[in-house]
Amino acid sequence: MKRLLAIVAGATLLGACAVTTQQEVQMGQNYSSQLNAQLALIQDPEANRYLNVLGDSIARLADQRNLTWHFYLVDDSAINAFALPGGYIYVNRGLIEKAPHMDELAGVLGHEIGHVTKRHTAKTIQKEQGATVGIVGLCVVLGNCNDPLTSKAIDIGASAVFAKFSRQDESEADAEGVKNVVRAGIDPRGMRDMFQTLLAERKARPGVVDAWFASHPMEEDRIAHVDALIAQVNPAVLATLTKDSPRYDAFRARVMALPHVKKPAASGGAN
Ligand SMILES: [Zn+2]
Repeated sequence: MKRLLAIVAGATLLGACAVTTQQEVQMGQNYSSQLNAQLALIQDPEANRYLNVLGDSIARLADQRNLTWHFYLVDDSAINAFALPGGYIYVNRGLIEKAPHMDELAGVLGHEIGHVTKRHTAKTIQKEQGATVGIVGLCVVLGNCNDPLTSKAIDIGASAVFAKFSRQDESEADAEGVKNVVRAGIDPRGMRDMFQTLLAERKARPGVVDAWFASHPMEEDRIAHVDALIAQVNPAVLATLTKDSPRYDAFRARVMALPHVKKPAASGGAN
């Protein structure tokens, strides 16, 4: 934690100087190890293997910096996914349950990968300079806002890493998401379908999508924007893209059947 704070502070002091990829990866690594100690991670090797193979197949072609990507499954019924800088991506079980087709999960992964490859968090840190950034309560991500011990476990220094993405970042991540999945041979319409599910859930069960909307600003106009991006894909190519796979069906059935993971005990502090 101290080392991370030093990196963030260093990046702030450097002012206009860029956060290097090395710093970005270090930051992601530090936060990831802290989060992993607090999240109820699904450890099932087969389910994790599938998620990482799918994630890597999308990230590999999108990433110019040769990052090592890590995809984690979180046993949380909230429909959410999020990315840490440097290539750490988390997907909740709740999102997989609401994604009956492979291209829907792939679309969300493509979007999160876009936040990482476009360095949205690193750029926020560069710009921050003491300015107020919209902060996503970390307890929203951890799903433990009612737990006074764990909700305070990571706070200071997380601000930039858990900054709320701007609308411009979202729009860029959508554009990257479409390109990323198409490059990987996957139908980008799944991303649009997943966004529709998120918007519908916000009306029906707002609590389960709070964390998603807290970090990824999104309104109905996002769907039209994504449709416009998809309309730019060559229809002949679009027709060849994969929407589903038996392996995805097996993965999803497996995830849905796994017993719930016990949340790690509250540490009371991350230092
Ligand atoms: Zn986003």
